[in-house]
Amino acid sequence: MIVRYYYPYKQLNFYGVNTILTQFIKTALKEKVADPEELRNLKSRFAKKYQVDFPSNSIILRKLRQLIKAKALPENSELISVLRIRKIRTLSGIASIGVHTKPLPCPGKCIYCPAEARMPKSYLSTQPAVIRSSTLRFDPYRMVRTRLKAYHQNGHATDKCELIVMGGTWSYHDPLYQIWFLKRCFDAFNDGLKEKNLTRKIKEPAVYRDSVKRKKIETRLWRALRAAQRKNEKASSRVVGLTLETRPDFVSTKEVVRMRNLGATRVEIGVQSIHNEILDLNKRGHQVAATVKATRLFKDAGFKITYHLMPGLYGSTPKKDFAMFRTIFSNSDFQPDQIKIYPTLVTKYSKLYAMWKNGQYRPYRDQALKNLLKQIKMLCPPYVRIARLFRDIPKQSIQGGMNITNIRQIIQQELNTAGKQCRCIRCREARGRIVKLNDARLVKREYSASGGKEIFISFESRDFSTIFAFCRLRLPQKSDAHFIPVLQNAAIIRELHTYGELMPIAKSNGKIQHSGFGKRLMAIAESIAQNKSYKKIAVISGIGVRPYYRKLGYKLKDEYMVRGL
Ligand code: SF4
Ligand SMILES: [Zn+2]
Repeated sequence: MIVRYYYPYKQLNFYGVNTILTQFIKTALKEKVADPEELRNLKSRFAKKYQVDFPSNSIILRKLRQLIKAKALPENSELISVLRIRKIRTLSGIASIGVHTKPLPCPGKCIYCPAEARMPKSYLSTQPAVIRSSTLRFDPYRMVRTRLKAYHQNGHATDKCELIVMGGTWSYHDPLYQIWFLKRCFDAFNDGLKEKNLTRKIKEPAVYRDSVKRKKIETRLWRALRAAQRKNEKASSRVVGLTLETRPDFVSTKEVVRMRNLGATRVEIGVQSIHNEILDLNKRGHQVAATVKATRLFKDAGFKITYHLMPGLYGSTPKKDFAMFRTIFSNSDFQPDQIKIYPTLVTKYSKLYAMWKNGQYRPYRDQALKNLLKQIKMLCPPYVRIARLFRDIPKQSIQGGMNITNIRQIIQQELNTAGKQCRCIRCREARGRIVKLNDARLVKREYSASGGKEIFISFESRDFSTIFAFCRLRLPQKSDAHFIPVLQNAAIIRELHTYGELMPIAKSNGKIQHSGFGKRLMAIAESIAQNKSYKKIAVISGIGVRPYYRKLGYKLKDEYMVRGL
């Protein structure tokens, strides 16, 4: 008899599958299955013996969890680790949870931007992440909880999470909606995976015209958000980073402070191009000066900065695009920490679609774009992370432009064959490797950025091909008045990151995440700042990492963790 797993798992009990699964798990434990290869071999032995198609890792994992919960088996993190699927999601040590705001208007008129009905601006209903969010009616609480549960079912720990809010221009949304949206996200993290005693729901605020009433509601919402954030410091799913997306021309000192109060630690800025004539041709509605100003304000407030950049815009050429990347990586007005490269694609619902149809716009040929992307990778400094090389738009929605969605892997292979290696952070992340301190070398890279000095301090392999941990220290220009008083004449730690497989906080097994690189980097950064005569040091800390810094002697002051030097 061949049992096909085309039915809900519970119905399969009829075939005694539960017994087979239990037997399988016990054998796996007895034989100390330690890697995917051994797991596959055991599966095929069982498949032959019982004449069944063996179920997926997530089903086995669910059964294993049931047995552990029923105390029929002891806790076994090694087998859980082998059963984890899609490991890449949490290899950088943090579970990334993306949510979308509801479809709201955006002031931009960018010609390439799809404006599909009932979808957040610039997103398409065919994108998997958007499908998930729209099925949940863009409800922040449900979007977060669903992702947490999915991670858990796939065997990933969810104790450290990064929340990424997508959809149009965040800063343009009604402030009441913004506060409510994030409060509900924090509620979801605070409730984590539990099913009972959930946080009481609060309704999305209406659009109030009466300013007195508005003020009252806003005060109440801020209070609720603060309480949810405080609770998150001790929650089982902690928010260690929060990313918001915005346009450069919406950034002011007031907006930066507001984003910090909301808990943001990283911003994704829609830069797209740094050539004014190209920005104009594509109706971006701002000039490069706005990008320069936004970059400086965010850096001086300690934010991590991701640029969205679009090669192949209307009016550009591969040569101009290459020059743009060279400037971005070398000119101190730019120097982002991370970039997402989104080659221009023609999609329906955009103005560019009509221009492409009538021959006014021509995307780059695949080979030209591929060469350009390779050149950009070769140019990238070792302190920048190339997070994306292509936007995750399904092939069927791409009308014009490259539709090789696995272009990153292809380029990687071609570079490897040519004996070249991209030096960006992403291509060098340690990904769970366990290292002895002796095998790691301390590297300091210094560069000027937005009126200050950036020092990128890292632990890397002897040949620099792998990065184990890093810290971004900013030494801003000392001035008489900082727009955030607590940062007045303070050195700022904008990022501290160690790489390794995500392990629950209380169950460290000696992997990189807990090997002490973080503390060492902090001590080095503090001593550099002290030598440069800074009297204090401030960290832009995710809500969930505050306890970590408290242990190092830092205190929460106006949204930053601060320590005197
Ligand atoms: S600013 Fe962003 S969301 Fe708004 S129209 Fe331009 S690309 Fe679209
Ligand atoms: Zn790279």
